[in-house]
This record gives sequence, C-alpha cells and structure tokens, in this order.
Amino acid sequence: MIYERISLRKFNTYGINVKADRLAAFKLEDNAVRFFRQHKETEQNYLVLGGGSNILFTGDFHGTIIHPEMEGIAMEGKSGSDIIVSAGAGVSWDNLVESTVKNGLGGLENMSLIPGCVGAVAVQNIGAYGVEVKDVIESVKAISLADGSIREFTGDECKFGYRDSVFKHELKGKYLITKILFRLSTRPKLCLEYGSLKDELSKLGSISLANIRKIVISTRQAKLPDPEQIGNAGSFFKNPLVSEAFLESVQKKYPKIPVFRDRSGGVKIPAGWLIEQCGWKGKRIGDAGIHEKQALVIVNHGNATGRELLDLSEKVRKSVADAFGIDLEREVEVI
Ligand SMILES: Cc1cc2nc3c(=O)[nH]c(=O)nc-3n(C[C@H](O)[C@H](O)[C@H](O)COP(=O)(O)OP(=O)(O)OC[C@H]3O[C@@H](n4cnc5c(N)ncnc54)[C@H](O)[C@@H]3O)c2cc1C
Repeated sequence: MIYERISLRKFNTYGINVKADRLAAFKLEDNAVRFFRQHKETEQNYLVLGGGSNILFTGDFHGTIIHPEMEGIAMEGKSGSDIIVSAGAGVSWDNLVESTVKNGLGGLENMSLIPGCVGAVAVQNIGAYGVEVKDVIESVKAISLADGSIREFTGDECKFGYRDSVFKHELKGKYLITKILFRLSTRPKLCLEYGSLKDELSKLGSISLANIRKIVISTRQAKLPDPEQIGNAGSFFKNPLVSEAFLESVQKKYPKIPVFRDRSGGVKIPAGWLIEQCGWKGKRIGDAGIHEKQALVIVNHGNATGRELLDLSEKVRKSVADAFGIDLEREVEVI
C-alpha cells in the first residue's frame, strides 16, 4: 500500500504530527523487492520506520517512509535444547516475547514490554535487565533499498555493540530488515542479576520464564511512561561508558554515584542519575518535559513539537556536560 502526504502522528510514539511525502507499507517481502527494483533508477530518499518508538521527528519528511508489516512467528529448527524461532519484521516485539515465554523458550523474557517491532531490534540491539538481543540473534534477513537484492547477515556481520549495530553505521539507511531468526532455548541460562529481579522473583515463589516476564512488566509499568498515555521514546540518552579512573574522579565528589558493570567489564553511569543531579527530573518547558519518575525519559505532555523536545534535550545535555564533564550520546534518532 502506498499513501501520499500522510500524517506520521500514529507512526511515532512521541505523537509528533509531521507529514511524509509518501509511505509504502509492505506485508510481503516479494512486494518490497519489486518496489525497490522498480525504483532503482530514481533512487529515493527512504526512511524505514517500524513502531517509531526510538525516533523524534523535527519536521516533515521529504521522501518515502518504508513501513514493514511482515507478520509470522515460526519454529524453524531444533538442535538439542536450542530452538530457532523466526519472526517477521512487522511483528510487535512484545507479542514475540509473550509467545516465546508461553512456549517455554527462554532468551527474550528480560526484554518484555519493550515497544516497537521485531525488525528494529537488530538495528538497535535492544536490551533490558542485563540482557541484549544480540546474544540470541542467529541471523537477519534484509532487502537492499538500492536494488531489491536479498542478503542474510550472521550475528557477527551485524557488528552489535551497546544499542548499536552495522545498520547504524556503514549500512545505515541501506537495508529493510524483513525477518530475524533467534536462537532460544528450552533450558535457558537465566539472567537475574540485574536490579531487584531476584528479590522480586523470590516473592513470587518460583523461578520461571512467565514469572520473570511478569516482574519485568510490572517494574517497567511502575517506572516508565506508557506512550499511549504520554508521548515518549524511552531513554533519550545512552548510559555513558566511562573509565575506572574517570569514575574514581567523579566518586570523590559524589561517593554514592550508582554504577553498572556490564559482562565485558565496562563501567556505565546511569544517565538518568546524572540528569537528576542537575535538577531536571519532573521539569517542563511548555509541553516538553522530563519524566517525573525517570529523568532519562523526555516526554511530550501534549503538543510539544519535535524541535521543542530536541531543544530541551540539548539543555539537559549541556547541564550534564557542565556538571560532570560527560557528553551524553543520544539513543533516540532525530529525523
Ligand atoms: C516507553 C519506552 C521504553 C523503551 N524501553 C527500551 C528498553 O528497555 N531497551 C531498549 O533497547 N529500547 C527501549 N526503547 C526504545 C525502542 O522501543 C527500541 O529501540 C525499539 O527497538 C524500536 O523499535 P521500533 O520498531 O519502534 O523502531 P523505529 O523507532 O521505527 O526505528 C528505530 C531505528 O530502526 C530502523 N528500523 C526500524 N525497523 C527497521 C527494519 N525493519 N529494517 C531496517 N531498519 C529498521 C529505523 O530506520 C530507525 O533507524 C523504549 C521505548 C519506549 C517508548
């Protein structure tokens, strides 16, 4: 389906009412292939848009939005306790997590309730509660926007990093991801070390995928604003990775600074804490605001424009740089 001069309000979780010249939605991979082959000569300005939950539009988009709607979750293979599950790019991420948990397949449960569609998770390398999706991605199928050719990427070829992948760098804007294969397990190694997950689980009595999902969902619902109620795109900034020496220097002034150490030994300072120390939590300028429970989330209280939200984020960034000497990197993509 092709739509002309369409409002993107329903296609981004900030609810920004900008327009796109065109939006092409594809349920079938073959139709997408045909479309890109046909437009090979007149290569257009494309933007692939899934659920729009990590995007801030600051103006109309002059080009074609490519919206993947490929459905389907299927079991593709089995080897011992490992099960390969595929999902179409248009499947809601949380529907996939719910379905795998119901079927006793572990690997995605800590990433319950993250908004957005399956296709984007390989771009973002989404993560939550100590887990990143890269650990379970087997391969990624994609179509070249330039000529409609199909390519499969192994996990290694995706060059995953913290909320990062090859699709944000050398292959940025070059592929439409249509399907992802995940390696899940009937005997998963659970990750319960993060936050209060273990304590909360012990209150529920038994450790199961369903209980992990339940706790993750209730914790997220208590802490994070629901985009259906108040426009937002989750964490606006990444948590900065710092050296041990830098951490020690900050600890002299702030001995209670919280710190995460990831599996590779990296030291991360929660960006939300830094923003909170600068006094931004709950503040607002017009309809652009900082969420009252989580300072890392910039919210649209109603009719803020993308530009106003971006301006607020720049003020926050400057305060943190002035106070801590840390330059926060945006997680949300500004278009
Ligand atoms: C309340 C809230 C909580 C959140 N919590 C988390 C969290 O805990 N952890 C986390 O990691 N993220 C979190 N996010 C961010 C967001 O949900 C994820 O980044 C999600 O994966 C984005 O999915 P999407 O479909 O909305 O992608 P979009 O925002 O539409 O796109 C994101 C990027 O991926 C590209 N893209 C999307 N689909 C495709 C495709 N099929 N092929 C090629 N490129 C594509 C887009 O061009 C863009 O560059 C949160 C967001 C919100 C609103």
